[in-house]
Amino acid sequence: MDVALDTFTLETTFRSLENFGHSLRARCYVLRPASPEDIPEVFRKAQQLGLSVTARGAGLSYNDAALNGGGIVLDMAGLNRILAWDPSTGVVLVEPGVTLQQLWQLVEPEGWWPPVVSGTMFTTVGGCLGANIHGKNNFQVGPFGEHVIEFRAILPTGVEVVCSPKKNSDLFYSMIGGLGMLGIFTAIKVQMKRIYSGLLEVSTRASPNLGTHLADLFENAPRSDYIVGWLDVTAGGRGLGRGQVHAARYLQAGEDPHPQFSMQLKNQDLPSRILGVFPKSMLHHLMGPFMINFGATVVNAGKYMASLRRHTFRQSHAAFHFLLDYVPNFEFAYGRGGLIQYQSFLPKEHAEAAWAEIISLSIKRGLPSYLGVTKRHRPDKFLLSHAVDGFSAALDFKVTDGNRAALSQMLQDFDRIVLDAGGRFYFAKNSETLPETAASFLGTKAVAQFRRLKRRCDPYGLLGSNLYRRLFA
Ligand SMILES: Cc1cc2nc3c(=O)[nH]c(=O)nc-3n(C[C@H](O)[C@H](O)[C@H](O)COP(=O)(O)OP(=O)(O)OC[C@H]3O[C@@H](n4cnc5c(N)ncnc54)[C@H](O)[C@@H]3O)c2cc1C
Repeated sequence: MDVALDTFTLETTFRSLENFGHSLRARCYVLRPASPEDIPEVFRKAQQLGLSVTARGAGLSYNDAALNGGGIVLDMAGLNRILAWDPSTGVVLVEPGVTLQQLWQLVEPEGWWPPVVSGTMFTTVGGCLGANIHGKNNFQVGPFGEHVIEFRAILPTGVEVVCSPKKNSDLFYSMIGGLGMLGIFTAIKVQMKRIYSGLLEVSTRASPNLGTHLADLFENAPRSDYIVGWLDVTAGGRGLGRGQVHAARYLQAGEDPHPQFSMQLKNQDLPSRILGVFPKSMLHHLMGPFMINFGATVVNAGKYMASLRRHTFRQSHAAFHFLLDYVPNFEFAYGRGGLIQYQSFLPKEHAEAAWAEIISLSIKRGLPSYLGVTKRHRPDKFLLSHAVDGFSAALDFKVTDGNRAALSQMLQDFDRIVLDAGGRFYFAKNSETLPETAASFLGTKAVAQFRRLKRRCDPYGLLGSNLYRRLFA
């Protein structure tokens, strides 16, 4: 460890950090602030030592957003207190390290649910704001940032700012989704969503190809509160883009005869065993052997056949939203090289043609995605927004020593297809995006505004991450 950093009053380690998919690694000085008051001191020290600083929540971004090779990583997980909670209004004030798990477990027994959640409950509220996450209800309620009433943040100058849609609104709309590059959130006030049951009504339908899949998402979104699709991205030919759509709606007051029961935490918990037999923690070992092209094709075909039966059922909020948490450490099933998730957002008019080209190309090059997930979106007002009036598809790719270069090239070829179709990208996912791609979809006006705000908030350029240097520096 660097001698100067060794004298730091905060707990400090120099260690290797990874992204969620374990496909990237960086050696960083990790500092754990015990309170927001420690943060200005970190900036002073970073400036003296010529080091950059990146905040890290749970480190669950799929890419390099929370990595800072050779620099300081501020581990925000320790700032995890609920500062205020009012069950009569559903307004909660939290420190940034509070996880979505802490949040839903606090509010649900009192008849509320976080307005937007990620596919895992282990993300932090600070990280959800940094990336401005979207849920399966993006087309109805927008991203997480639209439900933030106010936040406090510390700028690298040491100044504290309070931002809301009315107060310092330029900072509100740029720090949310600004990947921690303008300041560090220290307290966040969020409006929760009223619910009348711990259950959702979910209906599933199979879709035989990409066209019907997107049409289903489009037509059923207006009468659903949530909608999400699964794609069998290993299938080509007439079955290209086949999959299944899950649409869900909240139960209205009176529909659940026992809401107090269904909202209890013990009735929300994900089962600890699969099929009542295998401990969930073992499952990723069993999945490993199927994570090859042939294995994934067989598993996906089986899953598609099983999805042909259309059905409607009631499911707990936690089970519906956090499906990926059913399989702890599922990312390890991808093996030593890890995985890359490639998510693109396309206007509804061009989505089918562009994704048909992308899926065909991946199959042709022998680099198919093993898992595809689709969602319906609408645009929002945030400066570095990824949203469009259309759809997103998130595709998971296995990385190996042998395929890394070809995969990287293929994802950049996808970028061109997406850009030509008027699409956008999400900065918490793709890891291969080039600076010119980011500039192209964000537009020169948005990039110039971001740079202006960066100079204003961070005149000495102290906030930096691997992602920032890759895309903007
Ligand atoms: C299984 C899985 C499912 C997912 N599903 C979804 C999904 O459905 N929708 C979606 O939108 N995303 C999804 N994601 C991505 C994830 O929600 C985002 O990457 C989120 O930002 C991760 O939160 P985190 O706490 O781990 O943040 P990190 O990954 O640690 O950080 C994310 C960004 O926020 C910044 N940041 C963190 N804390 C602060 C702070 N206090 N102040 C300022 N900046 C800060 C970081 O610098 C970084 O740029 C998923 C990820 C996983 C692993």
